[in-house]
Amino acid sequence: MATSFRSIGLLLVVCLSGLVSAGEPTIPVGAARVDITPDYAVRLSGYSSRRTPFESVAQRIWAKALAIGGDGGEGPAVLLTVDNCGVPAALVDRAWPRLQQLGLRRERLVVCSSHSHTAPWLIGFAPFLAQDELPADEQEARERYTRQLTDWMVEAVAKALARRAPAHLSWTQGEVGFAANRRVMKDERWTGFGVQADGPVDHRLPLLVARSADEKPVAVWANYACHCTTLGGDFNQVCGDWSGYAQECIEADFPSATALVSIGCGADANPEPRGRLEYAEQHGRALADEVKRLLAGPLRPLPPQIDCRRKQVELPFGELPSRAAWEEAARAGGSRGLHGRYFLNLIERGEPVPAALPYPIAAWKFGDALSMVFLPGEVVVDYATMLNQRHGADRLWITAYANDVPCYIASKRILREGGYEADQSMIFYGRPTRLAPEAEDIILQTVAELLPK
Ligand SMILES: [Zn+2]
Repeated sequence: MATSFRSIGLLLVVCLSGLVSAGEPTIPVGAARVDITPDYAVRLSGYSSRRTPFESVAQRIWAKALAIGGDGGEGPAVLLTVDNCGVPAALVDRAWPRLQQLGLRRERLVVCSSHSHTAPWLIGFAPFLAQDELPADEQEARERYTRQLTDWMVEAVAKALARRAPAHLSWTQGEVGFAANRRVMKDERWTGFGVQADGPVDHRLPLLVARSADEKPVAVWANYACHCTTLGGDFNQVCGDWSGYAQECIEADFPSATALVSIGCGADANPEPRGRLEYAEQHGRALADEVKRLLAGPLRPLPPQIDCRRKQVELPFGELPSRAAWEEAARAGGSRGLHGRYFLNLIERGEPVPAALPYPIAAWKFGDALSMVFLPGEVVVDYATMLNQRHGADRLWITAYANDVPCYIASKRILREGGYEADQSMIFYGRPTRLAPEAEDIILQTVAELLPK
C-alpha cells in the first residue's frame, strides 16, 4: 500500500509540474559519437551530377549511438544515427554479428540515416546514381569507406553501451518551419521540383531527452521531416547539411549532451531556402533554437522500459517492364542506361526480376506515453498524416530513412500524381519499376499490428 501511495504522489508531482521529478524511476542511458569524416578521396552521394571525389571538408560528420536500458530482460534499445545519404540494410547486416556480441537483439537496434547529400557514397546505396560506372580507384575508395563506416558504427554502439548510467527519459513536441513541399503540381499532376507552398508538409519536431541524476541532459534526440539537401550537387564538400548543423548547435547549447537527429516523412519536402552553406547553418540553428525552447519548458516523462517490435514485409512493385522496354533503356546514356543494362543482363542470365521490395518496419513503445515507428526509405509526408490520424499525433513519433534506404516510398496519392518520387527515382535506386498502390495498405496494416491499441 505504502508503495502505491508513493507512486500516486509521484504521479501527482509529475502531472502538476509537467516536469520530470527527481524521484522518477531511472533507466541506464549512454550516448557516444565517432567521427566518420573521410581523410582520402571518395565520391559523395545524393546527386548524379557529381563526377569527382569531394574537394574539402566543410564540417566533420558523425555516427552517434544512444543506448537505453540495462542488460537484463530484453536488453538495451539502441539508436544509431549516421550522417549519410543512405546506410543500406546490407551494411547493418555486415555489422550485425559484432553488434549481437554486444548483447543487442535485432528488433532493439535502429539505424537512421540523415540523408545528407554531402557524405560518402556507400556500397549498396542507390547503385545507379551516377552518369557512368565509377573508375577503379574510386570504387576501391568507396569499398574502403564502407568497411570503415561499418567498424565506426560498431564502435559508437560499444561506447554508448559502456557509458550507460541512470537517467530519466522525457519527451515533447515542437515545430520548425523550414521544410517546404517540393512537388510542383498542375492539374493534379507532378510538373517538377520547386516550392509548392500549399502542399502537405509535417513541421512537427518531436524531441526526446535523457537527463542524468543531476538533471544534465546526456542525450538529446530530435526528429524532423525534411530532405537534408540545403546544399546542391555543385557543393562537393563533406558536410552534415542542416542536420549536421542542428547537432552541432544543440551540443554547443548543451555541452553535456550528445545530439542525435533523425529524419521523418520528409521525402517530398526540401529545406527552404536552399543552395548555400549559410542556409544549412541557418536551418540547423532554427532547429536547435526550438530544442532550446522546448527543453526550458515542461516535458512529458517516459516509463523506464521500451517494448521493441520488428516485422519484415514485402512491398509489391507495379507491373514489370517488358523485355523490349529494358532493351530500349539499355541503349540510353547515364543512369537510365546503367539501370536498363543491369536488368537486361539479369534477364539474360535467367534470373528473376524482383516483384517486391523487402521492407522491415520497427516500432518502439514507451508504455502508453509514446510510440515510435521506424520506416525504411524515403517516405513521403502522406504516411505521417495517415499514421497520425490512426494512432494519435500526440503520442506518435515517426522516423523514416530507418534500417534501410532502398528507394522512395510513395503513397497512393503520389503514385496517382506521378513524378520523381513515384517513378524517376526508382532508376537511381536500381528498382525495376514503381511501387504498387497496395504497398500503402501493407505499411499501414503492419504499423497497426506493431502498435496494438
Ligand atoms: Zn532523397
